[in-house]
Amino acid sequence: MEREYDVIVVGSGPGGATVAREMSRRKRRVLLIERGGNWKLLGNTLSMAMVLKNFGLTLSRELNVVVVPKNFGGASVVSCGAAVPPPKAVFDEVGIDLSREAAEAGAEMGVDVLPDELVGKTNMRLLEAANDLGYNWVKTEKFINPDLCEPGCADCMLGCPKGAKWTARVYGEEAVRNGADLVLRTTVTEVIRESGKAIGVKASSFGRKREFFGKRIVLSGGTANVGILRRLGIDEAGTSFAVDFLQFVGGVIPGMNTTHDQPMAVGTFEHYDSDGIILLPVFPNWAMQSVMALLKGPQHVPRLKDAFRFSGIMVKIRDELKGEIYPHNPVFPFSKEPTEQDRKRLNKGVDIIRKVLKKAGAPESSILVFNPSGAHPSASCRIGEVVDRNLQTRVKNLYCCDASVLPASLGLPVVWTAVSLGKRLSKHLEEGLQTA
Ligand SMILES: Cc1cc2nc3c(=O)[nH]c(=O)nc-3n(C[C@H](O)[C@H](O)[C@H](O)COP(=O)(O)OP(=O)(O)OC[C@H]3O[C@@H](n4cnc5c(N)ncnc54)[C@H](O)[C@@H]3O)c2cc1C
Repeated sequence: MEREYDVIVVGSGPGGATVAREMSRRKRRVLLIERGGNWKLLGNTLSMAMVLKNFGLTLSRELNVVVVPKNFGGASVVSCGAAVPPPKAVFDEVGIDLSREAAEAGAEMGVDVLPDELVGKTNMRLLEAANDLGYNWVKTEKFINPDLCEPGCADCMLGCPKGAKWTARVYGEEAVRNGADLVLRTTVTEVIRESGKAIGVKASSFGRKREFFGKRIVLSGGTANVGILRRLGIDEAGTSFAVDFLQFVGGVIPGMNTTHDQPMAVGTFEHYDSDGIILLPVFPNWAMQSVMALLKGPQHVPRLKDAFRFSGIMVKIRDELKGEIYPHNPVFPFSKEPTEQDRKRLNKGVDIIRKVLKKAGAPESSILVFNPSGAHPSASCRIGEVVDRNLQTRVKNLYCCDASVLPASLGLPVVWTAVSLGKRLSKHLEEGLQTA
């Protein structure tokens, strides 16, 4: 038996790293277990290979791309740094108030809009075009330090070579400085129970079996929580989930392209309450475009000649809770395709984007619409169904804390919400440990 921890956290994305950091600040003995390594992404297109390998571009049975991270810091390492606070209405539904935690997290992550020179001229052109059409586009908030960020870099999704973007590594590394143990390349496979309570985890690292023991176990592995929970008989986990379906729409505007502009630094949330859609300029780089063009059909591959000329905008939607996670299927670990309502939402967004791109100067013939994909797997272990309002499962002392507990699809950037949930859970864990 290895040393007993107060808290074992499985997964180092925003939810897990926050719990590790918060509990280590409270002088608790913390173990953070991460199945991936600590890849330092290069911030250039060659690192795309690393991204594909470690940030799991995974295909659903229906061949929709879904991103499943496997790296220290989780998907936050490849995020665009777009900052949106936890949506109040979604959490009101389950009786949770995250306002204090969100305010604290926003201040720590340095959330703010960026100066115009970092936003970039293509983004500003798209914003003006949209507003000329009567839409309400604004500069959006980011968790990016403008003093470290460089105009024209725009490599947020390749790991931010300048270290300007907040990622969960910031909190994971702070946890280690505070005394937490971090084990990488170690995959948790099972929870150990005694008298109905969670007391530890079984893990595997390069074929070596390991066991770790702790008073509280927090699963923050996203979709991977499902396999661990089902082994405990929590079969409702992963029987439906959300991926926040998105579609990239690109057009060629002479003299412009979004590849050198900050992704998601402008855009609009004006259709969110009415239609569940948001629109933000961002377009995949050449390597991702190749994958997406192939998935759309070989006849679209010649369009890659414009790979460095596209100006692109993404529509992202609140998708319906459908599909299923198959934790033990290595080829197609999900089934998820847009429902009729999802398609209507996506189509509405695509129509608006076409208008904006054309107004900004893109000929209709240059417009390319990629297939739907899903960047934010979430809501597979929902509050009120798989976990309670304290994020505890029906196995005592076993919690989930990450995007999987969201009560519904957010259709919004998730990081700020996951960090806020991590802060809230940490208060609950501390109270419990003090009274135990
Ligand atoms: C390309 C891209 C861009 C994005 N841009 C933004 C953005 O601009 N703003 C925003 O807010 N959000 C963005 N997101 C979404 C956001 O990054 C994720 O929603 C967020 O990281 C989810 O956090 P999480 O806490 O659920 O953990 P995740 O980030 O999902 O991390 C989970 C971690 O757990 C580990 N793990 C899983 N299972 C195990 C196991 N059994 N044992 C050990 N470790 C395990 C994984 O390796 C992973 O590191 C983006 C996502 C992608 C893919």
